[in-house]
Amino acid sequence: MRTLVETIRLEPGTGKAIELRAGQILRIEQIEGGQCVDFNAFNLNDYKEFMHCGRTRTVHGFNPTEGSFLWSQPPRERALLYILKDTVKRNDVLFPRCSAYLYESAYGFHDHTNCHDIQSEAQREYGLTPDDVHDSFNFFMNTEVGQDGKATITRQSSKAGDYVELLALVDVLAVPNVCGADIMRTSNFSLKPIKLEIYEAAEADLRQVPSVPVLRSQRTPKDFRQPNIKATRELSRDPAYQPQFTNVPIRIEELAVTLSEEEAEAFDALRLPLYGDDEGAALRDLLFTWWEEKYLAANSGAPAIGDR
Ligand SMILES: [Zn+2]
Repeated sequence: MRTLVETIRLEPGTGKAIELRAGQILRIEQIEGGQCVDFNAFNLNDYKEFMHCGRTRTVHGFNPTEGSFLWSQPPRERALLYILKDTVKRNDVLFPRCSAYLYESAYGFHDHTNCHDIQSEAQREYGLTPDDVHDSFNFFMNTEVGQDGKATITRQSSKAGDYVELLALVDVLAVPNVCGADIMRTSNFSLKPIKLEIYEAAEADLRQVPSVPVLRSQRTPKDFRQPNIKATRELSRDPAYQPQFTNVPIRIEELAVTLSEEEAEAFDALRLPLYGDDEGAALRDLLFTWWEEKYLAANSGAPAIGDR
């Protein structure tokens, strides 16, 4: 059984920074329907680790939903939250938060409600600055990418009572806000309130989360050569700096690969004209193409979750 901890009503034009402990669930629910909710999240114990839309969309696609994780940025790259339930299954990680500049430049409104300023104001409760606001995960926002590569926003279909549930996997500062766009399709051209509920997760909720491998490359400040948070705003050069790039200088070695007659035939049949006479390049392409198809989720450069 879940225990309800708190209920919050988010009015249009506002957002709220919420301490969500590992094992707690944040439910974001439509009161009237058709309202986009922008969302930021930080590691509660180290705000320099935060949710990263780029990593999240690489692993789960442009419209992450139920069964997706919300990841933090490299080199942390941890699953911060898990989407337990999503009744609409339409969210966006392509578009940035709307901002004051957007409304002034495109519409001439100097003081329009906007997600960046709402996030800044909500995060200020925990001492963060407007520069700390990061790319939003946009719940209920209905977007797609066309053949021309352009992303578009469509009216959304969420109704009263539709909801998304996020389970915190580590302690986070979760910051949802009512998107300020009343003059775009994002929230069907109006602003509506949103209901938030915080629960203690039940055992059954926790069991739904697939296991995520913990790898050495997921680094924390104790592994950084420069682990200190800069306390001043201007930049100046460290005279003691000596570059220490990974594996540099890079060495290239020739390696003989022997193919059987059968393998050589398969190789000739599959090799791409792109590489001309360069058999080494053609073989590297074939080998790594096979590897990507076998081991990377949706060929996106992200390891498959839960199948290792
Ligand atoms: Zn917005």
